[in-house]
Amino acid sequence: MPFEQTVRTPVECKGIGLHSGEPVTLRILPAPAGTGIVFRRVDLDGFEIEAIGRNVARVSYATSLQKKGVLISTTEHLLSAFIGIGLDNAIIELDNLELPILDGSAQPFVDMVLGAGLRRQRRKRTYLRILREVEVREGNKLISAHPAAGYTVAYKINFAPPIGEQSFAIDLSRDLYRKELAAARTFGFLSEEKALKNMGLIRGASEENVIVLTATGVKNGPLRFPDEFVRHKVLDLIGDLALLGKQIIGHIVADRAGHAMHTALVSRLLRDRSLWEETTEVQEAEEPPERMAAEVASSVSEA
Ligand SMILES: [Zn+2]
Repeated sequence: MPFEQTVRTPVECKGIGLHSGEPVTLRILPAPAGTGIVFRRVDLDGFEIEAIGRNVARVSYATSLQKKGVLISTTEHLLSAFIGIGLDNAIIELDNLELPILDGSAQPFVDMVLGAGLRRQRRKRTYLRILREVEVREGNKLISAHPAAGYTVAYKINFAPPIGEQSFAIDLSRDLYRKELAAARTFGFLSEEKALKNMGLIRGASEENVIVLTATGVKNGPLRFPDEFVRHKVLDLIGDLALLGKQIIGHIVADRAGHAMHTALVSRLLRDRSLWEETTEVQEAEEPPERMAAEVASSVSEA
């Protein structure tokens, strides 16, 4: 039976925001069982914003939280890391509005927390178990949630060359996050750089924190995985779905989705209480891993 966990000791890093270009210091502090993930703006008298669906703000290039006009931006990589390693409770102190982008992946957050260690708390982890299928569609974009024994994700993307079509499926209940997803970095097309810069959307972007793509290839290679792009989308999805406030038990299928679609699914689930239940009971998957992987893979091609 899994128990809630927090970080053993405070950890800190410094960096710049991808979108704002602003310098920021981020501290991850231990928190009592039942706290969840709470952001704290130390530059604004310690104003706190809980990492829950109700606080989701404008979502375009990144996921942001907003409460009473106070913003916390680009939360998805940190929250993804926390789901991936099983960190349930923490206070996240920031002295600016945007989280640091670091290397563009979730790896630095994973390393920070695991470097300090996780502490098991005296409370069973509560999961959100999907009971009924639910789907959000927008044109040719799709995201859906289905009942399943563990937490599995199947994602398909279709971008301009050199990415093209990629798909990736993973069973997170098998502890694969660190090996398969954490290091996958965010990416952008050089052809869009000027427009995005002019709109003030990527003030902090550099070849140190974004995979830069030209029409023919990767400008700042090598890639960490041949399919790093779709893996990063899965990383983002997990971080966005973390705004449900609980780990999921269910199968998520996404096709050409993005932050807006991910958070639309969060809102849909939070609105309709008949789609899920809270549980502390985790079923062991009955099927052997190979069969499970094949099923997840086939659900991608059906999507
Ligand atoms: Zn991302």
